[in-house]
Amino acid sequence: METSNYFELDVLNEEHQNFRNELATINKDGSRKWVYAQESQGRFTKARSVVAYSLLTFLVVTPFIRVNGNPLVLLNVIERKFIILGVVFWPQDFYLVVLSLLTFILGIGVFTSLLGRIWCGWTCPQTIFLEFVFRKVEFLIEGNARQQIALDKAPMSATKFARKALKHSIFIVLAWMICNLFLSYIIGTDELFAIITSPPSQHISGLTAMVVFSGLFYGVFARFREQACVVACPYGRFMSALVDPDTIAVTYDFKRGEPRHKPTKADKTGANTEPRGDCIDCGQCVMVCPTGIDIRNGIQLECVNCTACIDACDTVMTKIKKPKGLIRYASANAIKHGAVNPFNTRVKGYISVLSVMLIVLTTLFLRRPEMEAIVMRQPGTLFQKVGGDSIANFYTLQLINKTFTQKNVEMRVLEPQGASLTPLGDYSRVAVQNVQHGRFFVAIPKTALHGAYNTVRFGVFVDGKLVKENTTTFIAPEK
Ligand code: SF4
Ligand code: SF4
Repeated sequence: METSNYFELDVLNEEHQNFRNELATINKDGSRKWVYAQESQGRFTKARSVVAYSLLTFLVVTPFIRVNGNPLVLLNVIERKFIILGVVFWPQDFYLVVLSLLTFILGIGVFTSLLGRIWCGWTCPQTIFLEFVFRKVEFLIEGNARQQIALDKAPMSATKFARKALKHSIFIVLAWMICNLFLSYIIGTDELFAIITSPPSQHISGLTAMVVFSGLFYGVFARFREQACVVACPYGRFMSALVDPDTIAVTYDFKRGEPRHKPTKADKTGANTEPRGDCIDCGQCVMVCPTGIDIRNGIQLECVNCTACIDACDTVMTKIKKPKGLIRYASANAIKHGAVNPFNTRVKGYISVLSVMLIVLTTLFLRRPEMEAIVMRQPGTLFQKVGGDSIANFYTLQLINKTFTQKNVEMRVLEPQGASLTPLGDYSRVAVQNVQHGRFFVAIPKTALHGAYNTVRFGVFVDGKLVKENTTTFIAPEK
């Protein structure tokens, strides 16, 4: 008999081993088995509610918070403009954004190695929206899991139609709100309000995106649900590579629970002499599971560590006067051997790599230049003769101020000697966290030129101090 990854579950009979051959949410004929999860209650559910509603509040409020006129967070992937904690990251800083994302992903990897899919159960937006928003609405309108099953089985009636219509109407509104919320992180609240309040003809593409993404969110939360975690989420797939027997996750204590048994009269009278585990096979842990699995089969890919089964089982244990924690946060090794060593060599390795990445990221961030200057020869121009002894080239300039103070900027030619720079328009003041465009021309005496292609070196002076140098080409007639 095949054994579980981390549990030698020889205590499980053939019937219990079936979970390896079928998905909990797929019927034998391949059709979807709808999960009617019971509403969970208990200390972990309460703690998760606090975390979930705090995160939801943060998610909703953040796009409206301004720091020095900039949003607290803006992730404009379309224009490659990112603002994190009010600091603008320009396309030139894209490597920092990529590195930050990689560090964040690695951080989740480290947490997964230590604490399993804790991200999924406690902080993932999919879980939070599904369990703490959409399912709450469902419970409110259609009742508990039992009532939902009865409603779905009942023939269509005015009451059933009204309930379903009300539920899906609210779902559509919620999906539209979530879509707007995510869009406000991408295009910003000002642009979003412009799309919402202007005539639709002015924002056809924006509105189309809103409709498509709202439909997508509605589909995910109304129908696709746990399948997103079970079959679509790449993180769930990675998880099996990251966890090991020392990973602390939601785990069934099979040593204490098996052999499971349904209580009989003989148990009550004390006539039963067969060995009995603490699990009374009541199925409560399965009934509350949003992915429809049985945690007693061991760590499974489908488990999002939502802790609902811990709360359900604790309630049962309290009723039958047994200690809580038959299902609890524990590692497989802790259950099997009583050994707890979450910081094993592998985790230490991950933490070392994460530390290195954090140091590199912090260093790069601190060394990020305050002022960026991009100088390019003006497209479509060659050179001009100036007076009888000089040649001029035209240049375009882009100045990016990454600081929180306005900068007075002056461009000077550092090389070759004798060159002069004439600004075309005023580009000398660059506003806070902003970009300034400008043009200028440079005239160089013919005696300082060496042929058709020459090099010219510019200095960017901020408040009289050289902060950056820039080198580009200068074109002149052949000698
Ligand atoms: S809730 Fe607890 S007692 Fe009931 S089946 Fe699950 S593990 Fe066993
Ligand atoms: S097995 Fe328990 S922790 Fe895992 S998803 Fe199901 S209810 Fe949540």
